[in-house]
Amino acid sequence: MDAPKVARTRKTKVKNSTSRPETRHVSSKVGKFDLTDLQWTNQIPQCPVYHPSEQEFQDPFAYLQMIAPEASKFGICKIVSPISASIPAAVVLTKEKKDFKFKTNVQPLRLSDWNEKDIITFSMRKRKYSYHEFEALANSACLSRFYSSGGLSSSDVEKEFWRVMDFGEKGKIEYGVNIEGSAFSCDPHDKLGKSKWNLKNFSRLPQSTLRLVDKEIPGITDPMLYIGMLFSMFAWHVEDHYLYSINYHHSGANKIWYGVPAHEASQFENTVLHHVYGNKISSKLGEDGSFQLLAHKTTMFPPIILLKNDVTVYKAVQKPGEFVITFPRAYHAGFSTGFNCGEAVNFAIGDWFPFGAAASKRYAHLRMLPMIPYEELLCKEAMQIHKFLKVRSSKNKSKDIASYSATVLTFVHLMQFYKKALLRLKGSPECSISSNTISTLICCHCLRDCYVAYMLCKHCYSYPICLCCHDMASKRCSCGRKYTIFKRSDMLAMEDAAKKFEKEKEIHLK
Ligand SMILES: [Zn+2]
Ligand SMILES: [Zn+2]
Repeated sequence: MDAPKVARTRKTKVKNSTSRPETRHVSSKVGKFDLTDLQWTNQIPQCPVYHPSEQEFQDPFAYLQMIAPEASKFGICKIVSPISASIPAAVVLTKEKKDFKFKTNVQPLRLSDWNEKDIITFSMRKRKYSYHEFEALANSACLSRFYSSGGLSSSDVEKEFWRVMDFGEKGKIEYGVNIEGSAFSCDPHDKLGKSKWNLKNFSRLPQSTLRLVDKEIPGITDPMLYIGMLFSMFAWHVEDHYLYSINYHHSGANKIWYGVPAHEASQFENTVLHHVYGNKISSKLGEDGSFQLLAHKTTMFPPIILLKNDVTVYKAVQKPGEFVITFPRAYHAGFSTGFNCGEAVNFAIGDWFPFGAAASKRYAHLRMLPMIPYEELLCKEAMQIHKFLKVRSSKNKSKDIASYSATVLTFVHLMQFYKKALLRLKGSPECSISSNTISTLICCHCLRDCYVAYMLCKHCYSYPICLCCHDMASKRCSCGRKYTIFKRSDMLAMEDAAKKFEKEKEIHLK
């Protein structure tokens, strides 16, 4: 019932594709992106595809850790689930969740000119759809474009997508995005639903770093649903805090993904700044300009721009029953080839921490409010590793230390920073020291999350300052009183752990 609607037969006529070649050259967008020849879509290499056995599939984090060193070089990868859901998403969203309804994003089917007067925005529609109402709308949209609710190969739909986007049709499509909820079944007999790959429970698994986030954050710690139709698109972006993401295709037509590996992220941002955004916009925005504008998640442009500028890009054609993983700081974008339902959530494992540190620094630099308490996660994770290593024999230690090295090294760097900063402040006449913190606080200057230590005035308790900002910010609280340095009561234990890590690292990592 949920078989892909597109790609069943190949004999469907493509409406418009032959009737418009002359008018196509009139389009102003052709001048910008020159999409007259779409053969480049065949030149984008496929990302790696993994086929875990049922045995390997039992522990998602062990499996992800195993493939990450290789797969991360591609930015995105596909994992084909060896087990399938016995209760389809359509049944979950209509029978298990009887009141399920969702709003949609309205997306214009054209590429922005990227000047001040032409910046694409997606707007939210007020009306709500039930699953079947949207399915009917999606199928009729497919029918009116292709004279059939299916029938084209993904490769043909891909070319048609970029042709339509380049031509700049007046048309709009709708996309159910960021819908809180899950389409994994709660039925105890559903094999996939009760597996550890059920995204509802994913972030709370013991090896998941995000288990340490106390509150539920929809989309980050808890999954969201994405219900699409032909050409529903997700614009180029990286995940918040450069986190990993995992995306499951529940049912329907294929989804086409493009991904750029993290080691090309800077080059990607640069290319977008100079070859996608217009001169007016790029000259106004600084070095971080494209990062900030991309965060609006409305920047869509064809991957040919990346190919032309030597930015590596890979493609995935995601079918029902397949997971797509996006790695830390891997930019990605894509679109649907027909009606479908997907689900996604973020996650983190140890090798994310260096990316998390870079994201945290960038957020502070741009005064962006963090969504997760990065420093708290790092310290808690490192202290648990420290506790775990204490009881390990030295034979196992070297293997353990190596597998935890990203977390351990990032933690050592953090503690070195605090050591230096506190040493500098010691004896400063403006500050007294209190050895207890209240909780993670947000620096009022740079919005950084502070867990280990911060400065706060004991009179108003209103304007915490992080130790990075102390030199730049005022020496006194806004209320005029002196600051107190608050540091965690377990700071000594953390310093001790960092020292031990440094020693072990020297022994085992050299
Ligand atoms: Zn600060
Ligand atoms: Zn004050």
